[in-house]
Amino acid sequence: MSRKNYIERSKPISCEEARQMMPGYLKGTLTDRELAAFLHHIRDCTHCAEELETDFMIEKTIHYLNTNEEGSFNLRPLLQQDIRDNTAALLRRRKMRRFRTAIIIITVILAALLILDLTGIFRITVFLESLM
Ligand SMILES: [Zn+2]
Repeated sequence: MSRKNYIERSKPISCEEARQMMPGYLKGTLTDRELAAFLHHIRDCTHCAEELETDFMIEKTIHYLNTNEEGSFNLRPLLQQDIRDNTAALLRRRKMRRFRTAIIIITVILAALLILDLTGIFRITVFLESLM
């Protein structure tokens, strides 16, 4: 069974839209929905991927010049790592959100059963006893 993940299910966007999202991606200000669509596009569109690489390099170069940070200045693997990190973080957030939704649904069902039991509409305790 090969289920599509959140990124693969995201709605396709145009190169124009992807181009507009690039500053947001680099600043980390995209919403999850935007980030998913952006990562999806970058994966399939070499043109925009190259554009991102350029923007990424400019951004990192400016940052480097401003901070004079020591360390490796090999940007290509840095961008690959950045994309991998963003992908993993996005999918992790989605998973957590699904888990939270499941917990809420279970809580609501339990609360509803409790109310039915307390009001005498449906005595779940009596019902359960009858099963044993
Ligand atoms: Zn594109």
